[in-house]
Amino acid sequence: MILTLPLADASGGDAETLERWRRFLKHRDDLSSRMDLQTCNGCDYCGSRCTDGFLVTREEYEAARTFFATLPIEEAKRLSGEARTLPWPGAEETGAPVTYCRYRDMERGRCVIYPVRPTICRLFGQTSWLPCPIGAIDYFPEDAATFWNDYRRFERHTWSEWDILMRNKSFENDNVSKEGIVSPQDE
Ligand code: SF4
Repeated sequence: MILTLPLADASGGDAETLERWRRFLKHRDDLSSRMDLQTCNGCDYCGSRCTDGFLVTREEYEAARTFFATLPIEEAKRLSGEARTLPWPGAEETGAPVTYCRYRDMERGRCVIYPVRPTICRLFGQTSWLPCPIGAIDYFPEDAATFWNDYRRFERHTWSEWDILMRNKSFENDNVSKEGIVSPQDE
């Protein structure tokens, strides 16, 4: 799949940042190729951890929105109308709520934007600090920690925070180019 992404993330918006992001995506592809993804095929146990509030880069935010916009209108309406704040499973009697990610298909138990899911979702179950919830993965690529440190150096916000930032007039007027590139993950 070919996706159009912004040239640079909001942390810099310059050529150096773009190059850093492209290197990061290549490293992510390489890391993914060394993960035990066969075991994950068809499994949705980590879907219960798809809760809202995690941080993504601007490119990941844009990629998710671009992908979602390709869905048939009826499907998009169904997903947009799903309730995502629910009683915490297994602790319903406490009244504690949990809000799921906006891209979680609650009815069908899957990620709507799986091909362009953010980095943290790709790492889930594949690192020692985000282990598989059912312990099915026992091998982790050695450089996963270094990779995460690289990721943390990009500006990241929640989905909702990016909504606000992208609507903000001053943010729109910055000097970040809106030209598109092809993400290395899709080459
Ligand atoms: S983007 Fe997809 S995989 Fe990531 S938390 Fe949301 S629903 Fe889950």
